[in-house]
Amino acid sequence: MAHSVQQLPYDLTALEPHISRETLEFHHGKHYAGYVAKLNAAIEGKDEDKLSLLDLVKKGPSTAYFNNAAQTWNHEFYFNAFSAKGAREPSGDLAKAISAKFGDFAKFREAFNAQATGLFGSGWTWLVLDGKGELAIVNTGNAGNPVNDGMTPLMTCDVWEHAYYIDYRNLRPDYLKGFWEVLDWNVVGQHYAAAK
Ligand code: MN
Repeated sequence: MAHSVQQLPYDLTALEPHISRETLEFHHGKHYAGYVAKLNAAIEGKDEDKLSLLDLVKKGPSTAYFNNAAQTWNHEFYFNAFSAKGAREPSGDLAKAISAKFGDFAKFREAFNAQATGLFGSGWTWLVLDGKGELAIVNTGNAGNPVNDGMTPLMTCDVWEHAYYIDYRNLRPDYLKGFWEVLDWNVVGQHYAAAK
């Protein structure tokens, strides 16, 4: 069963000016679609062809297809968390948990920004539930996914340069400012509710 390229749940211009049409055309239409194609090529006709995308990721970084499986999963998780008009702050149980762990929402964003700008090279910054069920901010390098460390992803920011170079050139901190303007906390809240 081949994995298909998921359509974005919004128009290519919906996230402008924070994430441009041109960025989505390359990031979704070329980079992400390329990972899906390479994943399918790597597992075609093999036993792994029957596994779900998440189960392929959970097989871990030692597999030949891991990078393309994890990049496919990570990008779908990332793109699906944006919306033109969504909740720009957490609410309910997630808001309480963020305040309890990080002080308040502003301090959480500061901590997340520091983690994301501190990641050397390519990778992802995540809000997760760790192995003890506590909120945590973690980085993974390259295609890494926290599920391989026993954690549950709630939200992620792609900090590969291909995510921001068209709109922000080398300025990752400016990309993060835009990221918070389009992230939909309703989606993150749904992940939190499902994980608890
Ligand atoms: Mn990417």
